[in-house]
Formats: sequence, C-alpha cells, structure tokens
Amino acid sequence: MSDCIFCKIANHEIPSTTVYEDDDVIAFRDLDPQAPTHVLVIPKKHYANICDGVPAQTLAAMTHAIDEVVKAEGIDKTGYRVISNAGADAGQTVMHFHMHVLGGKKLGMGLL
Ligand code: 5GP
Repeated sequence: MSDCIFCKIANHEIPSTTVYEDDDVIAFRDLDPQAPTHVLVIPKKHYANICDGVPAQTLAAMTHAIDEVVKAEGIDKTGYRVISNAGADAGQTVMHFHMHVLGGKKLGMGLL
C-alpha cells in the first residue's frame, strides 16, 4: 500500500534499524521502545492484521524471524513476549500486520 509506513520500511524507502530480513519478512527496532528489546516483525506484503488472510507460510516465516531475533538479542532463554494488536480497541496504530517482540527485562502485565 502506497501510504503505509511499514510497507515503506519493508521496501527500504524509509530507514529503520533492521535486525533480521529474508524474502518474506523484515524485523526492525520499534521507534518508541517499551522494553530493552522491542522489535517489530512484519510480513513484507501488506495485511491489515493477523486475521487478514495471512498465508500459513508467511506466519511460519514470521515465527522463524522471531526465533532468530530472540536468539540474536540473547533473550531466548530469559523469556520474551509476542503481541499483535488488531483493530482500534486493541490499540493498533499502524494498520500493517506486525508482531511486537518484547524482552530484556522482567515484563509487567501492562506492556502494549
Ligand atoms: P501498534 O500500536 O499498531 O500495535 O504498534 C505500532 C508500533 O509501531 C508502535 O509501537 C510504534 O512505536 C511503532 N512505529 C510507528 N511508526 C514507526 C516507524 O516509522 N518506525 C518504527 N521503527 N516504528 C514505528
């Protein structure tokens, strides 16, 4: 989508701190981190949210990306949280499907 900020990040039209990338997925640091590790994992193709017909192969690629990110960040053993907001009541502000990966400290219940 031409006016989608995350599509622009996926296409490298605007900069981001990329921590993982493959053909289907890109992972980059959140602009406003809520934890020492706060990475957004997104499909390069545009979907509005997790239930917007995302192919199983893409979901598997995102899971693989999360695995790579948490290992690289050194939080695979200590623990991390994966969150995906969908829609206004959940507080979704960017309407391009993304998973927040949070860790690096003991997380309370209020994060995102
Ligand atoms: P949501 O509220 O939709 O679940 O999460 C959107 C997230 O995207 C927020 O945590 C916000 O800080 C982050 N974000 C919004 N715009 C940008 C941007 O241009 N670059 C990066 N790296 N993160 C962004």
